[in-house]
Amino acid sequence: MRVILLGPPGAGKGTQARQLAARWGVPQIATGDMLRDAVAAGTALGRQAKQHMDAGELVPDAVIIGLVAERLAQPDARTGFVLDGFPRTVVQAEALDRLADGHGLSLDRVVLFEIDDGELVRRLTGRRVCRACGRNYHVVFSPPARADRCDACDGTLYQRSDDEEDTVRRRLSVYARDTRPLIEYYRRRGLLETIPGAGPVEQVFDDLLRVTGSGR
Ligand code: ADP
Ligand code: AMP
Repeated sequence: MRVILLGPPGAGKGTQARQLAARWGVPQIATGDMLRDAVAAGTALGRQAKQHMDAGELVPDAVIIGLVAERLAQPDARTGFVLDGFPRTVVQAEALDRLADGHGLSLDRVVLFEIDDGELVRRLTGRRVCRACGRNYHVVFSPPARADRCDACDGTLYQRSDDEEDTVRRRLSVYARDTRPLIEYYRRRGLLETIPGAGPVEQVFDDLLRVTGSGR
């Protein structure tokens, strides 16, 4: 399966992509995670991306497209993938179409998570992330068993600097301006499925399996 999870920051894409990719045995390709790794490693890419990320703005298309092109060329992506956080602009979506064509692959589904802004702000400002394995938690909605420790790998949890409320609002308006046009882009191609993002994690996962034709 080759699937894109589409939706605003905080919609639950990362939480669901992780489970879906594990179930299908395909890679989760999350551009935000890849960029944060580059920032932590202090690479040239990381230095270039950091200022945009801290401001809640998008990293330039050419940078992201290069990153994804390299990732999709890895052998594991031949089996399929769950794209999480990419594409985020029409230019990126067009580049993905060309990349997929070049590899003789086509997208199977684009799943849009629908959820209102109030819920997104609550989710993002309470999000905690494992520094070691990247798993997401929420201080109220899905707290870890032990404070600030990952249930899965015992890593330390931290709060992303762009999850502070002002930056969250900026990211939501960037989504509305740059990413929302992708809904129409994929609807016209007959690839779009929409699911409610506001229910419990298990409910969203059931909906996701249903619309990707791989029900429990
Ligand atoms: P995205 O990848 O779309 O930005 P995340 O998967 O990181 O979103 O989820 C954002 C926050 O909301 C995290 O703190 C996560 O634990 C929490 N969350 C995800 N899905 C749900 C859900 N269905 N109900 C409540 N909280 C959720
Ligand atoms: P995310 O982890 O998906 O919330 O992404 C965190 C930040 O990384 C975003 O606010 C952007 O600055 C940057 N980013 C991630 N993916 C992309 C993308 N596809 N295009 C541009 N910027 C991105």
